[in-house]
Amino acid sequence: MITINEKKCSGCGICKSACLFGAIEVRDKKAVVSEACTGCGACAEKCPCKAIEIPETNVGKAEDFDTYKDVWAVLEMDLSRGQLKKVSLELLSEARRLADLSGQKVGAVLLADEMPKGFEENLSYVGCDYAHVVLDEQLKRYHTLDFSNCVVRMVEKYKPAVVLFPATENGRDLAPRVSCALQTGLTADCTALDMDEKGNLVQIRPTYGGNIMASIITPNHRPQLASVRPNVLSIEQAGQKDKPMIFLESGMFTHEEKDCRLLKVSGRENVFQDVAESSVVVVAGYGVGSKENFEKVKRLALKMNAAIGATRKVVDEGWAPFEVQVGQTGKTIAPDVYISFGVSGALQHTIGMQKAKFKIAVNNDPAAAIFKMCDAAILGDAGEIADALLQEIS
Ligand SMILES: Cc1cc2nc3c(=O)[nH]c(=O)nc-3n(C[C@H](O)[C@H](O)[C@H](O)COP(=O)(O)OP(=O)(O)OC[C@H]3O[C@@H](n4cnc5c(N)ncnc54)[C@H](O)[C@@H]3O)c2cc1C
Repeated sequence: MITINEKKCSGCGICKSACLFGAIEVRDKKAVVSEACTGCGACAEKCPCKAIEIPETNVGKAEDFDTYKDVWAVLEMDLSRGQLKKVSLELLSEARRLADLSGQKVGAVLLADEMPKGFEENLSYVGCDYAHVVLDEQLKRYHTLDFSNCVVRMVEKYKPAVVLFPATENGRDLAPRVSCALQTGLTADCTALDMDEKGNLVQIRPTYGGNIMASIITPNHRPQLASVRPNVLSIEQAGQKDKPMIFLESGMFTHEEKDCRLLKVSGRENVFQDVAESSVVVVAGYGVGSKENFEKVKRLALKMNAAIGATRKVVDEGWAPFEVQVGQTGKTIAPDVYISFGVSGALQHTIGMQKAKFKIAVNNDPAAAIFKMCDAAILGDAGEIADALLQEIS
């Protein structure tokens, strides 16, 4: 919490307007701070009288920045295919770019039960210099404590300057825990990253409902942590690189007693491919009109070996689970082909599918916004066209 130097304070109220948390009042011509203060310091920057003091804290403050180096990415496995998820390579590719900007190396962290297929080749392709790998049967499936303890131990030992996490379901659980344990900052769901001239990672992400882009840095702490959603970054082939060094780590994972244990994994109807990983995604919108028609579009997706996706309205109706929602509060996708049925094309949806290479939309309204951004527009009834396609494909 900030403190006000009453002798210097003129009671101008500029700090009150600068405070994002409504934590400052002006009483008797003096600024007064309430418990809502987060100590963010936005007011101190604006105060013309230099009357605001932010207490120095050493919690988690990196003593010596020079000991922290390299850009790391925490990798995630695609268990169904026994290989790395696409997002892992997207992060490594971005790590390569950031490392080149700042004269550092690229490191990967993998926790798994076995080596992924094509691991070295994939790492070479994106220019990863080395990987720290922990293999254990218990690391087959994500577990909050096992994974976070392991990553924290690894970071404490090797001191990377930057660690990138996938903003997947597991990554969104892991990254904040690691950040708390290391007492350092984390910016979730970045849409772009950069390096400033001081070696700070510039973590860029939309805020206030996407109305502004915030550029966030972690100037006092190391490492700097950021997560990025799948399909936001691209995978670029690196120039000529040596084969990556693979370090098989021991002692990072311990079979410790835990309050929380994975007892069993029970199967669910396995029709939902991961929309973020599939090359063809068929999306059902509210215009399909009913759960029955949603099921029809789902059957079509299955026949096409495509993933089924949905808009938020369809998820809210309970026709589809949240994990297949595409858009701002769902997943970002970048398939080769996107086909929508009864989707209007609201910004919150299109923000999550605009990177699809070829977009086809079915809608019965010629003025639908989705038609303005698609490569092929089919004007007609969603149910009828799904029927016709099902028949054709069968
Ligand atoms: C903070 C916030 C976050 C959000 N996040 C997301 C998100 O992640 N993903 C998301 O999808 N939405 C999100 N939304 C909701 C978003 O704003 C839209 O409400 C939603 O995308 C609309 O879904 P829809 O296109 O399925 O439905 P509608 O907007 O109802 O559109 C239905 C479309 O179907 C057409 N149609 C109707 N009948 C037929 C028929 N018989 N045959 C063919 N076409 C037909 C209509 O012409 C219309 O274009 C978010 C909203 C907010 C405020």
